[in-house]
Amino acid sequence: MDYREMYVEMGISKEVVDYSESVVKSLEERFKKIDEIAELNQLKVLAALQKAGISEAHLTGTNGYGHNDMGRDALEEAYAAYFHTEDALVRGQIICGTHALAIALQANLRPGDEMLSPVGKPYDTLEEIIGIRESLGSLKEFGVKYRQVDLLPDGCFDWDGIRNAINEKTRLVEIQRSKGYSDRRSFSPKEIGEIIRFVKSIKPDLICMVDNCYGEFVCAEEPSDFGADMVVGSLIKNPGGGLAPIGGYIAGTKACIERCAVRLYAPGLGKEQGPSLNLNKDLIEGFFLAPTVTASAEKSAILAASLFEKVGFSCHPTADTKRMDIIQAITLGSKEALLAFCEGIQAAAPVDSFVRPEADDMPGYEDKVVMAAGAFVQGSSIELSADAPIRPPFTVYFQGGLTFPHGKYGVIKALDTMYKKGFIKLL
Ligand SMILES: *Cc1c(COP(=O)(O)O)cnc(C)c1O
Repeated sequence: MDYREMYVEMGISKEVVDYSESVVKSLEERFKKIDEIAELNQLKVLAALQKAGISEAHLTGTNGYGHNDMGRDALEEAYAAYFHTEDALVRGQIICGTHALAIALQANLRPGDEMLSPVGKPYDTLEEIIGIRESLGSLKEFGVKYRQVDLLPDGCFDWDGIRNAINEKTRLVEIQRSKGYSDRRSFSPKEIGEIIRFVKSIKPDLICMVDNCYGEFVCAEEPSDFGADMVVGSLIKNPGGGLAPIGGYIAGTKACIERCAVRLYAPGLGKEQGPSLNLNKDLIEGFFLAPTVTASAEKSAILAASLFEKVGFSCHPTADTKRMDIIQAITLGSKEALLAFCEGIQAAAPVDSFVRPEADDMPGYEDKVVMAAGAFVQGSSIELSADAPIRPPFTVYFQGGLTFPHGKYGVIKALDTMYKKGFIKLL
């Protein structure tokens, strides 16, 4: 049996299969370039694991206080080697990206300090960490001030605005690589490096921190290769390779990482504590798989943009834009179309495929959110998933796909669901 017949057997309309196949064919050159980046990053990760001397003994962990957790320490050494940083904190006690970002900010800011976002409003969940939205325990409550410089209308950095925003109180600059739930573009590590160079030329002791969520392994370099003092992300996104069941990382300078470790645990309790329990094998193996898993997700995102753009939906980034992360935003124009898309993604899942996603309140988010994910790890967005805040213009954020065939099937299923409900006409 041919795989195309299998799509039809699984309920996809024949015309949707034919349309999708013609689009996939046109992407071969693009995909080849992504495979080359994946190959480079696979070698970089392999070299990092070898440099850290990963051995069989590292695949088991400790419990209790977690003293002498060799696997945990070796994994952190491998992260530091890959990101070219002095040190790293890679822990299962960090539950997600938001948690890792909160630790990095709370650890490195003191009362009276100011933090600056030079690239506009940060990711939704950071609003409560910072206190942009009133929240219990925010940095604002602890006397840390926040300043923001928006991008210029053409999407460029507002260099004058950034210069004017830096003052004697500015301590930390937070730069978000991926667009998150906003409609700006995502930045390349090199562009982030330009901001870092600029702000450090004004105030050399500024701590430059990058929210690297969804960006890892997409490019040949990381923001830490361009002077970031800390790069921060979630292990249930790119760097966990789909195997990490929990976790976050912060890679950076020795001083920053030490402050993060005592903030995560307690003053006096630093990196030497923190049991990995049974996580070491999954975190190490996930890191090993992450470059090719990320490439699968990136290809799925490009396929989604290519398929939906041609039938009239606005895609961000556009189908032919070079990627800086794995997120694909597609503006679907109505709540009903958005729910149909998410229904298709959910129906393509290996877990909970029979569930129909609905919009609901989510901690950390202001609007109701709909999330489609039938994942092995709850909330894992390196696995095929789609989510959207319920607000005009009804943009869905699509990401993930541990394998390209699954990402492809998900996109086709979403397209087919919308097609059958009359939201799409095939040319
Ligand atoms: C996902 C994401 C976060 C938050 O991560 P969670 O793991 O969902 O808490 C922060 N910043 C950006 C840009 C993200 O994409």
